[in-house]
Amino acid sequence: MSGVSSLAERLARPEIRALAPFDIADTGPDPDAILLDSNESPFAPLATTSAVNRYPESQPAALRARMAALYGVERENLWVTRGADDAIELLIRAFCRPGEDAVAYSSPTFTAYERFAAVQGARVLDVPLDDNFDLCVDALAEAIEADGKVKLVFVCSPANPTGNVVPPETIRALADRLPETIVVADEAYIEFADVESLSGEAATRENLVVLRTLSKAYGLAGARIGALVGHPDTVAMASRCSPFYPLPVPSIDAALAALAPSRRALHERRIAELLDERARLAAALENAPGVGSVRVDGGNFLFLEVADPDALADTLRSRAIRVRFRPQAAPGGVRLTVGTREENDAALAAFGVSGSGAGSPSRRAEVVRETKETRIALALDLDSDGPRRVDTGNAFFDHMLDQIAAHGGFALDLTCQGDLDVDAHHTVEDCAIALGEALRTALGDKRGIGRYGFALPMDEAEAKVLIDLSGRPYAKWEGDFSASHIGDYPTEMTAHIFRSLADSMKAAIHVEVEGDNDHHKTEGAFKAFGRALRQAIRLEGDTLPSTKGML
Ligand SMILES: *Cc1c(COP(=O)(O)O)cnc(C)c1O
Repeated sequence: MSGVSSLAERLARPEIRALAPFDIADTGPDPDAILLDSNESPFAPLATTSAVNRYPESQPAALRARMAALYGVERENLWVTRGADDAIELLIRAFCRPGEDAVAYSSPTFTAYERFAAVQGARVLDVPLDDNFDLCVDALAEAIEADGKVKLVFVCSPANPTGNVVPPETIRALADRLPETIVVADEAYIEFADVESLSGEAATRENLVVLRTLSKAYGLAGARIGALVGHPDTVAMASRCSPFYPLPVPSIDAALAALAPSRRALHERRIAELLDERARLAAALENAPGVGSVRVDGGNFLFLEVADPDALADTLRSRAIRVRFRPQAAPGGVRLTVGTREENDAALAAFGVSGSGAGSPSRRAEVVRETKETRIALALDLDSDGPRRVDTGNAFFDHMLDQIAAHGGFALDLTCQGDLDVDAHHTVEDCAIALGEALRTALGDKRGIGRYGFALPMDEAEAKVLIDLSGRPYAKWEGDFSASHIGDYPTEMTAHIFRSLADSMKAAIHVEVEGDNDHHKTEGAFKAFGRALRQAIRLEGDTLPSTKGML
C-alpha cells in the first residue's frame, strides 16, 4: 500500500519516525565466516550455562559482588547491565529530558550515544575529534559550558573505531572543569590498553561514571553483561530506569562462571595473546599494498585507511572475512578486529601480505575442567618457553608442575581451586589429567614430532623417563618412597600422576626412579619427564614419526 502511511508511522513519535531503520551490518549467519567486524573475542567463553524456569534476580547479587571486586569498587558503586549499551541507555533516560537536555560527545565515535539520545529525544552536542582522532578537550568543555544543558558527556577511551586512548588525567580534568555534568568514560576496551581504569575514582566522584563490559575481553558478547560504575547516588538513579528482570539466567551464570578466580590467569593470557597478535597484524599491514595508514593504540582492533575500500570489500567477501567499514570516520576507514592467529593470517593474506610466523599452526591449548572437587583452568603453548604460572594451592606440586614446563620448554598457566581441606589427592590427579589433555590437544596431529626418553641424576638419585606419543595410553612405574609425604604432597601420588598423564595424553610413559632421598627422586622424575617431553614435542620437519602414517 505505497503512499499510505502505516498505523505505526502515524502513531509513532516524530523523532522515532525520523530515525534510520535499525540496521546493524549483518549478512546473516555463516558458520565458516571469519568474523573480524564486531570486536568480539575470538575465544569461546570460559563458561557453562543453565536452567531457566525461575525468574532471575533483578540485580544478581553474586555477579554484582564479583564484578565489583573485578573492577575494584564496592557493590553499591556498580549496577550490572545488559551490556554497556544498556548502561548508556539507562543514563540517558535517567538524566536527559526530551527536547531540553543534551548529550555531548566527539565524533567519530561509538554510534550508540547518538542513537539512544535520539530515542530519548535528547539533543546532541558533537565537538569532533581533531585530525589525529584525539579529543579537543578545551573546545569540548567550552561548548558544554556554553550550552548549559548538557547532562552527560561521553568519552570513549580506548575509542571506537579509532583506538585512541584518552589519558585518564584528561578525563579527570574534564570532570574537574564540569562539576554539573556527568562525565561518562566508556572503557569497553580498557583491558587492551596500557592505562589504568577510572573505575575506582568513579566510585567516589559524583560526576564521573565508568562503563565496563564482559563482551570484549571476556568473550561474553552474546551473554550481554556489562556494568555501570559510579557514585552510589548516580548508580541508584540510573537503575530506576531498568526493566524488572533484564538479565537472563544463563547470562548471569555464564558471567559468574567466566569470572571464577580459577580462570583469571587464563583471561590474562588470552588478552596478552591478542595484544601480541595486534602488534603482529600492525607490523604486517604497514607493508600491505593499498593500506595508507595503520592505527593501533588501545583496543582489540586496528583502524586502517585503505585506498580502495570497494576492492577490499570484494576480496574480503570472496574469502568470507568480515570487517567493519567506517567511511564516516575517515575515507577508506576500516576497523579490523584482532582474531585468532589463524584468522589473522587469513585476513593478512586478503590484504596481500603474510605475517611473520604465518602458516605454522599454533600449538596452544586451553582446558577448563570442573568437578565438585576441583576447578581447573589451564593454558599452554608448546612454542613459547614462558611464562609459567602454576597455582594449585600445594606448593610442592606447583614446583613439580613448574619443573615439567621449565624442562619441557613450554609456557604453562595452571590454576586449580581444589578440595585441599580433604587432601591433595583430587587436586593432584585432576591437574595431571588436565595437563595431559592440554598436551594432547596442543600437539594436534603430531606432525613433525618424535618419540623420546631422558635420564638424569639428582645427587644420589636417578630418574629415567621414556615417552612414546603413540596414541595408546600405557603407564609403567618403577620406584618407591620411604616417606608418605613431602610437605603436603603425598608421595604415593607420583606414580598416579604419570598414569593419569599417560591416559589423558594417550601416550606410553615409562618412569623409573631410584635413590635414597624422596625429594630428589620425585623432582628427578618430573624433570626427566619435562626433558623427555621437550624432545618429543620439538618440531623437526613436517613428517609423522610413524610408518603407520598416523599416531
Ligand atoms: C562494544 C562497545 C560497547 C558495548 O558493549 P556491550 O556489548 O553492550 O557491553 C560500549 N562502548 C563501546 C565503545 C563499544 O565498542
